[in-house]
Amino acid sequence: MTDTLHLDKRQRAMLAEMGVRVWSPMTEAAVMLAPAVDIEPTQAIANAIKPAPILIQRPEGIDHMDWSALRTTVTGCQACTLCGSRQNTVFGVGAPEAEGAAPQVDWLIVGETPGEDEDRQGEPFVGQAGKLLDNMLGAMKLSRTGAHTAEGGGVYITNVLKCRPPGNRNPKPEEVAQCLPYLERQVALLKPKMILAMGRFAVQALLRESVPEVDGTPLGKLRGRVHQYQNVPVVVTYHPAYVMRNLPEKAKVWADLCLAMAHLKGAE
Ligand code: SF4
Repeated sequence: MTDTLHLDKRQRAMLAEMGVRVWSPMTEAAVMLAPAVDIEPTQAIANAIKPAPILIQRPEGIDHMDWSALRTTVTGCQACTLCGSRQNTVFGVGAPEAEGAAPQVDWLIVGETPGEDEDRQGEPFVGQAGKLLDNMLGAMKLSRTGAHTAEGGGVYITNVLKCRPPGNRNPKPEEVAQCLPYLERQVALLKPKMILAMGRFAVQALLRESVPEVDGTPLGKLRGRVHQYQNVPVVVTYHPAYVMRNLPEKAKVWADLCLAMAHLKGAE
């Protein structure tokens, strides 16, 4: 490739990164980088300036945002690479909001990541796993959008990650780390009386401080007792999607829900 391209230093470096050899009459030296590829000059430049996914830092002050500012911030978030493949962010669903303020709830259900249906609809726990969760809530005399009453009962449902990992792969630790402040703020604003942590990644995100060995502990060993997150009781259980593949675990989930209900009742 002759140097009729008038490439500057940065463009040369980018082409070199790509393994493209550029001949320079100025230096009479070739940038020899294996593996070299044949590439049209115009294509080379197009590739060289093709933008990588833009990552914009999370805004400052999440821990002071109100509910509607938090929702808006999540909607526009580009703080990890998942922003490049999502269709929608999935902030959460639950009891009605009061003029943009956080809904009043007793229960916060935290899942793992949005799946394909959730990404398309912008709502957590839809599809078959969502139906199973709705049935569980029904058995507890709760519903995903039911209002909080004098007897309590409001529910909010969200995930650790607000964007879907492509192909439903597991979330990466750096993605969880980037997204977690949003969940932390949701918990602070919702002030639930009980959190149900559903699935391994929800449990790891919520219990990291109270259970230092959480990453190496099977979820089954964390069931059956009440943990804490931000001074809110947390009960650990299996994710509905896992239960659908392992139906005998349904009874264990019901036992976990009973533990949570009993703890909540005892605290009143
Ligand atoms: S997953 Fe979370 S941190 Fe990553 S882009 Fe979505 S909202 Fe932002």
